[in-house]
Amino acid sequence: MNSLNDRILSNWQSVVNDVAEAAVRFGRSPEQIVIVGVTKYVELETTWALVRAGCSHLGESRPQALWEKAAAMKAQPQPGLDSSNPSLPDGIQWHLIGHLQRNKVRRTIPSVSLLHSLDSLRLAEAISEEAVSQGLRVRCLLEVNISGETAKGGFSPDELLSVVDRIGCFDGLEVCGLMGMASIQKVPSVESSEVRRQFASLRVLRDGLVTRGLPETVQLRELSMGMSGDFVEAIAEGSTIVRIGSRLFSGM
Ligand SMILES: *Cc1c(COP(=O)(O)O)cnc(C)c1O
Repeated sequence: MNSLNDRILSNWQSVVNDVAEAAVRFGRSPEQIVIVGVTKYVELETTWALVRAGCSHLGESRPQALWEKAAAMKAQPQPGLDSSNPSLPDGIQWHLIGHLQRNKVRRTIPSVSLLHSLDSLRLAEAISEEAVSQGLRVRCLLEVNISGETAKGGFSPDELLSVVDRIGCFDGLEVCGLMGMASIQKVPSVESSEVRRQFASLRVLRDGLVTRGLPETVQLRELSMGMSGDFVEAIAEGSTIVRIGSRLFSGM
């Protein structure tokens, strides 16, 4: 084992431990929480080191980076990852966590196992149309702007209420949940409570939609929330998917 692998393995294990600890602390089971390793900061070699460490869910924010990495990793199976290892190339599940432009839909959907960033009706329509023609059903999350920051993408909570039924009518989509990002807090003392309030608002929004009744194609089991700096607060508020990047690559 070289030092890259050692470093990544120890970072990965520390994230796995902290996620499990947070789950238990808030009365949840660690198995309910998927950790997506966000590899947008690193090259192929480091991405492989993360897979070897045991991370089989990988996230990229740029569609093109996702295609390229997914194709390269499929073409280059690694020693030490045998067919009994769930982290095999074919077992890697790719998550697109950043904005998807409509002209990239065709190339993106075959490689993605979950799209976290469905953020407009037009995009939903484009994905569904393309998915139907490729014989696919695209699993996706509706991105919601929970921080109210104008620079962030996603549906506003009000918009979401008005589009969710229409999105549920698209045959090429399977809507699995919601995704949200908390604002970055500058004042540490209020950080935890404000961040938790924002994450709680996503859960409450989801619960409200479920209570109101949803089309069959819309399930909303998943809440994708929590990054390196705020995954504990997200887990406290019911996150089922955390998206962790920089913490996995610290000390490199
Ligand atoms: C980069 C990114 C992450 C990971 O953020 P870290 O703070 O590096 O853990 C998570 N979600 C999205 C949408 C991102 O773009």
